[in-house]
Amino acid sequence: MKIALVGIGKIAVDQHVPAIAASSNWELAATVSRSGTVEGIDAYTDLEEMLQSCGDIRVVSLCLPPVPRYAAAQAAIRAGRHVMLEKPPGATLSECHALEAMAREHRVSLFATWHSREAAGVAQAKQWLAGKDLHRLSVTWKEDVRRWHPGQDWIWQPGGLGVFDPGINALSIVTEILPDPIHVQSALLEVPENCQTPIAASIEFSHPKGAQVGAVFDFRQSGEQIWTIEVETGQGTLVLSEGGAKLTIDGSDLLDQDHLSLQGEYPRLYARMADLVSHGDIDMDLAPMRHVADAFTLGRRISVAPFIE
Ligand code: NAP
Repeated sequence: MKIALVGIGKIAVDQHVPAIAASSNWELAATVSRSGTVEGIDAYTDLEEMLQSCGDIRVVSLCLPPVPRYAAAQAAIRAGRHVMLEKPPGATLSECHALEAMAREHRVSLFATWHSREAAGVAQAKQWLAGKDLHRLSVTWKEDVRRWHPGQDWIWQPGGLGVFDPGINALSIVTEILPDPIHVQSALLEVPENCQTPIAASIEFSHPKGAQVGAVFDFRQSGEQIWTIEVETGQGTLVLSEGGAKLTIDGSDLLDQDHLSLQGEYPRLYARMADLVSHGDIDMDLAPMRHVADAFTLGRRISVAPFIE
C-alpha cells in the first residue's frame, strides 16, 4: 500500500521512514511538511494538495505534534483516507471521539498508535500479571528534555503535554499490562514559570483492590535516563525497564532470544496498521490520554524555575 507521511520531524525521520522502508506492506509515496523532506520521495508542503494530487495514496500517517493533528486527520478522513495517528492521538479527548465518529462515517480505518505498548517486554509482562495479586506499581520516567526533545517549543505550549509527552508512553504500558482499571486520585504538576505545561509531575492512582499505584515523571534528569515500571505482586516482582524493552521477574531476565530478535516498536505499529486497513477496522484506545486529562483536571500546580533550553 502506498502511504504518505505528514510532519517530517524527529520521530518521522528516526522511526517512521525506516519502519516503512523495511516493510513489504508499505511504500512511502509522498511526504507533507513545511520544511522536511525524505530523499527520493515526492514532497508536498500542503496536505490538501497532496490529497487531491495523489488519489492512489490511500493511507496517511500523521507525525505532527498533537495540536495541529486534528485538522490534518479531519482533512485526510474527509478525503477518504485511512489514518494512523502518532501518540497522543489528539490534543483533547473530544477531538479523538470526533475523529473516530468521522472515520466510521467515511468507512476508513483509524489507528491511535501507542508505540511503547509494542516494546519487547510488554506483551509478556501483561501475560505474567494476569491473575496475580497486585500490591504496588510504580512508574519512574525521568529523561533529559534537552537531549530528547531539542528545539521542540510545542511541548511547552497548551496541548503540548510537557513531561506527559513521554509520561503518556508509560501510561500506555500501564493501561495495557494491568488487569484492573485504575483512575487518577491526585496529581502534582510542576510548571516552569515561563511555560504552559509541566516539566515534572507525579500521580497517585486509585486501584479497585487497594494496591498502591503511582507515577513520577521528570524532564530535568541528567545522567542516567530512567524509563522503568516496577510491579510487586503476591507472587513475585516484575520490572519493565528501558521503556519496556527489558523485562525481569524476581531479578531474572524473562525475554528469550527469539523475543528480543522480533521487530521493534514502529515496525509492529505499521504491521498492525496494515492489518486494520485490510479488515476495515478502527483501533482508538484512549485510556492513556484519559489519565493525562484527569491529571490536568485534578492536579495541584506549583510554579518552578523557568525552562531555558
Ligand atoms: P518534531 O521533531 O517537532 O516534528 C514535528 C513535525 O510536525 C515537524 O515536521 C513540523 O514542522 C510539523 N508541524 C506541523 N505543524 C506544526 C506545528 N504547529 N508545530 C510544530 N510542528 C509542526 O516532533 P517529533 O518529536 O517528531 O514529535 C511529533 C509527534 O511524535 C509528537 O506527538 C510526539 O509525542 C510523537 N513522538 C515523538 C517521539 C520522539 O522521540 N521525538 C517518540 C515517539 C512519538 P514542518 O511542517 O515544518 O516539517
